[in-house]
Amino acid sequence: MVTRISEKLKNKITLSMPVRFLKGVGPARAGVFARSGVETVGQLLEYFPRAWNFAPEPVKISQMRAGRSATIIGLVESTDYQDFRRPPMFEVLLSDRTGVCRVVWFHGGYLRNQLSPGQVMIATGKVGLYKHQLQMTNPKFVVRDSSLVPRAPRDERGGTREEFSGGVYPASSGLAGRQIKRIIRPVLDNLAGLVDEFYDEDFLARAQLIGRKDAFYWIHLPPDEEKLAQAKRRLKYDELFLMQVGLALRRVRREQFSLAEPMRCSERIDRRIRRRFPFLLTEDQDAVIAEIAADMAGPEPMSRLLQGDVGSGKTVVALYAALLAVANGRQAAIMAPTEILANQHFISIERYLRNSEVRRVLMTGGLAGRKRKELLRRIKNRQIDIVVGTVALLGKDVEFDKLGLVVIDEQHKFGVAQRAQLRKQTMPHCLVMTATPIPRTLAMTVFGDLDVSVISRCPPGRGAVITRWVDKQDRQKAYEFIRKRLKAKRQAYFVYPRINSDPFLVTRVSSPSTSLEQADERRATSDAVKAATDEWKVFSSEVFPEFAVELLHGRMPSPKQQEVMSRFRKGKIDVLVSTIVIEVGVDVPNATIMVIEGADRFGLAQLHQLRGRIGRGERKSYCFLFAETENETAKSRLEIMTRSNDGFEIAEHDLRLRGPGELFSTRQHGLPDLKIANIVDDYDLLVMARKNAFELVREDPELARPGHRTIRRALLARFGDSL
Ligand code: ADP
Ligand code: MG
Repeated sequence: MVTRISEKLKNKITLSMPVRFLKGVGPARAGVFARSGVETVGQLLEYFPRAWNFAPEPVKISQMRAGRSATIIGLVESTDYQDFRRPPMFEVLLSDRTGVCRVVWFHGGYLRNQLSPGQVMIATGKVGLYKHQLQMTNPKFVVRDSSLVPRAPRDERGGTREEFSGGVYPASSGLAGRQIKRIIRPVLDNLAGLVDEFYDEDFLARAQLIGRKDAFYWIHLPPDEEKLAQAKRRLKYDELFLMQVGLALRRVRREQFSLAEPMRCSERIDRRIRRRFPFLLTEDQDAVIAEIAADMAGPEPMSRLLQGDVGSGKTVVALYAALLAVANGRQAAIMAPTEILANQHFISIERYLRNSEVRRVLMTGGLAGRKRKELLRRIKNRQIDIVVGTVALLGKDVEFDKLGLVVIDEQHKFGVAQRAQLRKQTMPHCLVMTATPIPRTLAMTVFGDLDVSVISRCPPGRGAVITRWVDKQDRQKAYEFIRKRLKAKRQAYFVYPRINSDPFLVTRVSSPSTSLEQADERRATSDAVKAATDEWKVFSSEVFPEFAVELLHGRMPSPKQQEVMSRFRKGKIDVLVSTIVIEVGVDVPNATIMVIEGADRFGLAQLHQLRGRIGRGERKSYCFLFAETENETAKSRLEIMTRSNDGFEIAEHDLRLRGPGELFSTRQHGLPDLKIANIVDDYDLLVMARKNAFELVREDPELARPGHRTIRRALLARFGDSL
């Protein structure tokens, strides 16, 4: 009778069924599950353990060793409850053909009516010594009635280990692994009707992947480590594969709804553009420009990510692309995450376009009223060729006549809302640039729908940058060293993590920064952080009274900032005491010294970007990291900085130190969070998944073929409308 009811229930289990209908889940437990994001059976299946325990293989009693864990199978010879002891203790003597072992449970009174001589017991736990005899203390155990088992029980491997082994689920769930195991078992027994296979036998064999149903079973109830490993591999692959199919589809859709038109690059156009630059382009710049020109010449919109360290010459490449659009009668928009950066771009572009007919404007948020209206009108009438600004350029009221190219600088620094806006937009040719070197894993995931170009070598004539980590007692020496350079007419940056100790101001200064930087900022305690404003006073009056020391930070009025920067550029300021506003886009070759105060409080990417402000001229440059810290992660960050100038190497380290989730949240980029795969550790699977996913979408962009239906369904469940 009982079995029949549960049979019936099993048949009704579906992925969308609420877990509350499962046996063993009442309203209270359903609530606990819901808090962990598990409301349906489908979500329960994907509620993976975060670790797994395996009971050791059963051994004979004679093989037990003190100090190790063991699983033994034996006959209960006697039981004894010793309530006179403190604490009271329940004792069993367990025997097999090779020996006898004492097994004890402290406070074991409750065992009196569970255990009796003649039972067969399987126990697993820690083995110790008590009065020179082996003893197992507080083991997990199961008993079998001896009438069901032969007197000398044989090895019961599989079943035995499974009793004690299993997943460790996130502690936050408030549910023990045992409970979850019991609840999920009927679901696992019914997987055939629940889980679709994505691939054919042939592929599974070639890729050495196990079936999807087995994978779900074994991830929750692994009989052994090997099966667990296979289950993990399969589920990780699926997760990465679905993500990559999503990216491939995103790309295909963009190509279908493109606004882009082919742009011709004749030799004459190329020559005219190059004439704008007072230097020969580097080999890397040439190569990247060739890729971009080829992209833009095609009928499909370019989607390219251009990576290059600070100072590698990306702005030149961006301007080349913009001028190519202009030469083809189109407009170009260049967008940066902040106004300061937009401004920097405009300044450098102005330098190259002096006396040119190309009509270019900087559109800032400060612009309002009639002036703004007038500008919008001119953009709409194509009286403007190149517009530089923030993402506000994509706003509803900004209408281009013929927008041919969008350049987006430092996209990952855009806010979440800005990025969402970018994704919604139908784009013409699009070039995304970043000076934060993107590790290959991230290039394949959060930027996975883009082609990638890299500028790896900087323009010639750059002096080396030497980086030193300085602690308190060496500070004076560093100051003396700097004094000598300043006397020789070099210039220096002193960078502080904050303007002053008001935490409210910090978020404003660094915004919009990645969530990570904000987290870093929050972590910093205000009393330990030197305030740039205070330090500036000390520097100008005490440390470097003979030099011109000035303050720059993001809370100063914008015209004042511009004015200070301009005097620094002209060499009228020797020492610039600043916050991270100088992080990107500042280019003063004569500035060869940088001191980063509280360097342990900056992230690696930020340190590297800051350091990129020096080493821009032919002279040797020096970067001093001032930091006293016992924090191991901070120390390893500082060590890497002193060791390497290679942005990519630094970025890979950063990824390892922080984990990909923290560096770039996949969700922020419109991708679902990964539950089991890790793009760093599972790099090989990622590569394989990416290749197969892009092939699949190329062959069947609608995923309409019968064999692809299961994949299509899974994608819809995962990505929902965002596709
Ligand atoms: P990025 O935008 O990648 O930080 P920029 O385009 O601003 O780099 O270039 C950094 C500096 O190098 C600028 O002063 C620029 O004028 C100079 N530069 C760029 N390309 C070359 C080149 N091919 N030869 C010499 N100098 C270059
Ligand atoms: Mg630049």
